[in-house]
Amino acid sequence: MATNAELAARRQLAVPRGVASAYPVFAARAENAELWDVEGRRYVDFAGGIAVLNTGHRHPRVIAAVKEQLELYTHTCFQVAPYEPYVELAERLNARAPFKGPAKTIFFTTGAEAAENAVKIARAATGRSAVIAFTGGFHGRTMLTMALTGKVLPYKKKFGPMPGEVYHLPFPVADHGVTVEDSLKALDFLFRADVEPSRVAAIMIEPIQGEGGFYEAPRDLMVALRTICDEHGILLVADEVQTGFARTGKLFAVEHSGVEPDLVTMAKSLAGGFPLAGVLGKASIMDAAEPGGLGGTYAGSPVACAAALAVLDVIEEEKLCDRADALGARVKDKLAAVARRNDTVAITGIRGPGAMIGFDIVKSRGAYEPDAEATKRVTAAALEEGLILLSCGVYSNAIRILVPLTVSDAVLDEGLAKLEAALVKAKG
Ligand code: PMP
Repeated sequence: MATNAELAARRQLAVPRGVASAYPVFAARAENAELWDVEGRRYVDFAGGIAVLNTGHRHPRVIAAVKEQLELYTHTCFQVAPYEPYVELAERLNARAPFKGPAKTIFFTTGAEAAENAVKIARAATGRSAVIAFTGGFHGRTMLTMALTGKVLPYKKKFGPMPGEVYHLPFPVADHGVTVEDSLKALDFLFRADVEPSRVAAIMIEPIQGEGGFYEAPRDLMVALRTICDEHGILLVADEVQTGFARTGKLFAVEHSGVEPDLVTMAKSLAGGFPLAGVLGKASIMDAAEPGGLGGTYAGSPVACAAALAVLDVIEEEKLCDRADALGARVKDKLAAVARRNDTVAITGIRGPGAMIGFDIVKSRGAYEPDAEATKRVTAAALEEGLILLSCGVYSNAIRILVPLTVSDAVLDEGLAKLEAALVKAKG
């Protein structure tokens, strides 16, 4: 088999640099929370393919469901000859909707497609055009979701102009000096300066920002947004693409806030490694688009739907919501101990419900000065230790832990020991 270096050289010639890889490590195989590269080196996986593998790499139940589906049919296109796995998955998700009343679900292939379609549905249901999102938010790389995404570099640079009618509010993060009051004041200014509330179709928010740094939307903000949406007939969209499916200790992260969204976008861990996305919403809103207005050739692939049905079984049977809480507590204990040491890079802001854990790397203890360079050193040192670890954040100084919820205690502890070693090594 080719080496990592040989493959990296071929990649450089054959694949444009616009698609970046966190690590020059080429995968050969993977199992639950472990991955082996083409040179046979083993890694503990704290990235889970960016929040896709809450049920781990190749969960046996998911693989069995996929194999069974492969023997029947792999593609008919739901718009040509529909199939039961799609309908059954919609039924099961509707039954778990994070709001009261009848729900409906439509499936797509990627998270960006889910976000795009949530906006289409919101526009159809309200007859309005504008959408409000947040700084630091991430909703995808397609034209509309790029506009919704609240980060210029690397997502928007060179790709303008952006589609119109997208506005941003500052996302409240105490360490960044932005309060809930600041966000709401900005919304008031927006309504006065740029767009009247009666022209706004939707406000889209991640209950916990993923790419933006694992910052939870404060409950006060969620409650205020719900009130403002109700007052003006605006739809509240929870983007649960990264937060979904037991990661936070609940099936959907928005459940922590007690606020009921009108629409929910889903993808990533929904199908345990197979490409599937969806929009779940209040039935009356979901039915607003005309027949044929929504869909996609591969949208709701039967193979991915079969995988997702197995994922829901695994979440229930293996009690992954409870497991997320237990794992998260273990990770936080370890990080709290590391934060007390003075031979590591300075870490602060250990946070997150369930196992959606993030923390920040700063220049020195006590003051909040983001240290993106040290963060890069940490992820590089992690790789040397045999740990796949991702950073994120508007200041590129957050570390996020997305270990599969199916990880064994032994592999989790091994990964945490590697993380600790990387935090020491990165201090230099
Ligand atoms: N929304 C959120 C919250 C995400 O984290 C992502 C992906 N990181 C997306 C949307 C886009 O998903 P995809 O990459 O599947 O298009």
